[in-house]
Amino acid sequence: MQPSGNLHIGNYLGALKNWVRIQNDYECIFCIVDLHAITAYQDPAQLRAKIREIAALYLAAGIDPKVSTVMVQSAVPAHSELAWMLTCVTPVGWLERMTQYKMKAAKQESVSDGLLQYPVLMAADILLYQAGIVPVGEDQSQHLELTRDIAQRFNSLYGDTFVVPDTSLPTVGARVMGLNDPTQKMSKSETAANHAVGLLDAPDKIRKTIMRATTDSNPAVDFEGAGPGVLNLLSIYQAFAEVSDQEIKDRFTGMRYGDLKKTVAEIVISRLEPFQERYRKIVSEPGYLEDVLREGARRVEPIANQTVATVKERMGLYS
Ligand code: AMP
Repeated sequence: MQPSGNLHIGNYLGALKNWVRIQNDYECIFCIVDLHAITAYQDPAQLRAKIREIAALYLAAGIDPKVSTVMVQSAVPAHSELAWMLTCVTPVGWLERMTQYKMKAAKQESVSDGLLQYPVLMAADILLYQAGIVPVGEDQSQHLELTRDIAQRFNSLYGDTFVVPDTSLPTVGARVMGLNDPTQKMSKSETAANHAVGLLDAPDKIRKTIMRATTDSNPAVDFEGAGPGVLNLLSIYQAFAEVSDQEIKDRFTGMRYGDLKKTVAEIVISRLEPFQERYRKIVSEPGYLEDVLREGARRVEPIANQTVATVKERMGLYS
């Protein structure tokens, strides 16, 4: 995740919650991608604070640093080094076609080269560790497809080097939509009122945001004719409650929207409260986060350096 903006329930349901679930089944590396964050200007002091915040949120969600690795991208220089080598095998046309690039570029007067290269750096983050599976929200599927294309292109030019990774999406919550506008995905960079529920929002604020969520002109839940706002609220509930489609239908059919929103707000608050308590405890332990991040970088650096050494050797570079 990028240490920019405030993490929201979309980040949690689309990614973080699943990371916790899979960490005992795979050898996991969870990265805080600060080099991606600087594709838009970040205040240096705020960026430094955000990196710690994201690390604490990972741990508060249940990532166990004894089981998984938590690290910061810029602490392992091999990420930038591999990104350059991959840039040189990536046609510009592939990058210009990326939906996220087109959407972000359309909002800016001048676009940094970094914004265009963003998915190449993401490919480097993944291929550096020969990752087999990348658990992300649906908005990252296209970047994962590109990562596969880059890996295959490199392998065909220079010989088998990279594992071609698979994408793992959650069955529910892969795309949480904005509460103010359910036609747009919930996004950290969106500043409109009542857009997102932040993972560190107080219960009152969460209640207010959800009670003001956009629904549709029906009075109550009708699964046949439900608009995107109602479907979004139902899927937020389902992802937090971990119940089946049938249970959702049985529970909510005919429920008035006011009651639906209250029920959704209560489950979100009840799930985030213990999470926020753990967060406060983690940030109050002097030196703990720094130790976790230092140890994370130390653990992965040999893997990353080995991949870069192989790539340099394959490409005929000097080492
Ligand atoms: P980012 O916000 O770009 O740093 O994304 C961090 C992770 O959260 C990625 O795996 C995204 O796919 C996921 N994510 C971001 N926004 C959403 C959303 N609205 N719904 C589901 N997953 C999301």
